[in-house]
Amino acid sequence: MDIHEYQAKEVLSGFGVTVPDGALAYSPEQAAYRASELGGERWVVKAQVHAGGRGKAGGVKVCKTDTEIYEACENMFGMKLVTHQTGPEGKGVYRVYVETAVLIANEIYLGFVLDRTTQRVMIVASAEGGMEIEEISADKPDSIVRAVVEPAVGLREFQCRQIAFKLGVEAALVPQMVRTMKGCYRAFTELDATMVEINPLVITEDHRVIALDAKMTFDDNALFRHPQIAELRDKSQEDPRESRAADRGLNYVGLDGNIGCIVNGAGLAMATMDTIKLAGGEPANFLDIGGGATPERVAKAFRLVLSDKKVQAILVNIFAGINRCDWVAEGVVQALKEVEVDVPVIVRLAGTNVEQGQKILARSGLPIIRAATLQEAAERAVGAWKNDLAQGVNMRAAL
Ligand code: GDP
Ligand code: MN
Repeated sequence: MDIHEYQAKEVLSGFGVTVPDGALAYSPEQAAYRASELGGERWVVKAQVHAGGRGKAGGVKVCKTDTEIYEACENMFGMKLVTHQTGPEGKGVYRVYVETAVLIANEIYLGFVLDRTTQRVMIVASAEGGMEIEEISADKPDSIVRAVVEPAVGLREFQCRQIAFKLGVEAALVPQMVRTMKGCYRAFTELDATMVEINPLVITEDHRVIALDAKMTFDDNALFRHPQIAELRDKSQEDPRESRAADRGLNYVGLDGNIGCIVNGAGLAMATMDTIKLAGGEPANFLDIGGGATPERVAKAFRLVLSDKKVQAILVNIFAGINRCDWVAEGVVQALKEVEVDVPVIVRLAGTNVEQGQKILARSGLPIIRAATLQEAAERAVGAWKNDLAQGVNMRAAL
């Protein structure tokens, strides 16, 4: 789960990371008022969306007057901010953050990620802050400093000092750098984050180390033990299909194609998507309904897949190991009776009790297209969609 910049700053400041003074606003009037409360002469108005690259996309504006703040907000509120991280549809701006502007002497990149190779938290830093890390690795790969944290002892001060020196930070500021890094690391581990990124971490003209931007991502599977983080979820920033799936406890990732997938097992779901592509189609989603696919769960899955209006055929691919094909078949039949399905449904069953499963599907009287192998299922799904069978299929009409 991602959170907003202003939320990440609040979280990190609780761990000793210095952030600029700022205030949240839901309207241009409120933004101007909150800037007057903050005081000072220059402010930065920042669109709050779950994506970076806002600066280049017009989502960050330095303002010197009330009027400028008002105008900056008028442009931001309600817009779909399109940055290189949002995709072409952009992300809606419903909140802006107003901060006291700081005078920047230097911009540093500081990131904490989970490194799969070493299975450790890795610190990635560069003196070329301000640019995205992808750009830094393409343009200035030699500027990148990496350090791996040994989990048994945690992040050591000497490691922080080493990084600070490699970044060329002057000696007097090293203690502030150490405090920032240790704070980020503690926040990362104590809150089960999967990513903490401060870009830029700035050194100000008056020699302070300040996190000017902040991004945090959390492990969804650990949110249950961090209710204060779970509360920060903002559904307006999520793919609505994925929010619905998360609310129903289903493992779903929305894609751009039109063949909906209902599969048990993540590996099989990946293989199903590959096979659809091989057959010349495009999957509309990844969906793993899990091992114990009860009829209720199968029905939920059908509703979820169909809530994506692009879906023109549904491929159900079940390999029953722990599960049983007859149960799944009953689930599919029950789901098709409960949910209004108006696209062709292709079912491939394999594994335990497959014959009984096939019989249940055949006896149901529903126009289910059956397939013996995954390849056949994918070809039939693509065929059904291409032959425009998608028009006018009504599962319940057959009952
Ligand atoms: P991002 O583009 O979404 O990553 O948003 P950032 O919060 O990183 O802001 C983009 C850029 O705006 C930063 O790299 C800074 O150069 C600039 N910026 C943000 N806040 C300030 C500020 O307080 N003072 C100055 N001078 N520049 C700022
Ligand atoms: Mn940034």
